[in-house]
Amino acid sequence: MTTANAVFIHHPGSELYKFHEHHPFNPIRLQSSIDLLIRCGALNKDQIVVPTIADEQTIMTVHREDYVRTVRQLSEAKPVADAAALADAFGLSDDDTPYFQGMHDATAAIVGGSVYAAETVMSGQATRAFHMAGGLHHAFPHRGAGFCIYNDAAVAIRRIQRKYGARIMYIDTDVHHGDGVQWVFYDDDSVFTYSIHETGKFLFPGTGFVHERGVDAGVGACMNVPLEPYTEDDSWLHSFRTTVEAAARMFKPDLIVSQHGCDAHALDPLSHMHCSMRIYREMPLIIRDLADRYTEGRWVALGGGGYDIWRVVPRAWSYVWLALTNNPIVAQTAPEAAPVPLPADWTAAWSNAAGGVDELPVHWLDSTDEWTPMPRRSAIRETNEQTCSRVLHQ
Ligand SMILES: [Zn+2]
Repeated sequence: MTTANAVFIHHPGSELYKFHEHHPFNPIRLQSSIDLLIRCGALNKDQIVVPTIADEQTIMTVHREDYVRTVRQLSEAKPVADAAALADAFGLSDDDTPYFQGMHDATAAIVGGSVYAAETVMSGQATRAFHMAGGLHHAFPHRGAGFCIYNDAAVAIRRIQRKYGARIMYIDTDVHHGDGVQWVFYDDDSVFTYSIHETGKFLFPGTGFVHERGVDAGVGACMNVPLEPYTEDDSWLHSFRTTVEAAARMFKPDLIVSQHGCDAHALDPLSHMHCSMRIYREMPLIIRDLADRYTEGRWVALGGGGYDIWRVVPRAWSYVWLALTNNPIVAQTAPEAAPVPLPADWTAAWSNAAGGVDELPVHWLDSTDEWTPMPRRSAIRETNEQTCSRVLHQ
């Protein structure tokens, strides 16, 4: 595997996916992450492939026609009254997912990137692809939800399923349950949806329990691993390794599509998990190993959530690309090695935007020695182990 076998996909139009100035979903994280990869020598600007924007026909392989029409109308500077009245029914008027000018084009650029990534890999033009702007996993066929308007992951999977008749394993490591993708393929035995997340007892979207295993033909092609709040690295990694391995071994996919929301980090403001950068270094390696063993290496990686946009997202998403390209930085930054600094010019370049140098990390991994251990650590680990046993028992 050489770098040429991994493709980095990014459309500038996806940077316009922004609800408003104070919304936690901030596309500047795409620029700061890409810049970190460039400054550490892992990516060249001319390597970045600009995808075609998805057309409505493609989007409507998952989304309902009336929903897409309304999204388009609400994208206008001054939406017609009829469309504005429908915003609520289509999930586009609440604080999480309010409609904004240009949202159809911005989201269609994101869908286009994920479809392009999947097509590039399945057609054999590359073995692996990364589309950092993708991973809008909460969108439903008939409504927006949880910062997501169109479900790029579901559309990309649908394309591959129809065109190649392939079996696809979707692996969602975002701290929130990958509900939108799960429900689209819930009765489908050719798409396995796997999601590891903070339990829906405490976190949006309130689903993703162990008993959600698919329906009709899809029974058994869905796995959920809901973890306790304040879960730390060791328990997260153990839970992930054991369950995702069992799922891949049982399902035997032709393609892996992974979603890399990085909001299970202790610094993320929207969840209660207590993981460090260590899980974001190791988790892509676990997925890469599964791809090598089960899909002849075919792996499409997408972005996702992540709301500490300076201290967490750039490093976490860089680690995905570093794993895709077998970059030596991954081995150099092993937890047992001496801490490896981030490029100083990256810190300097972004410190103003981040509100001061203190906001930016200095090393690739977090120095968790300075963190207060969770007082209920062993109880949390035991509960997670029981959850994994129930998952595997099924
Ligand atoms: Zn999330």
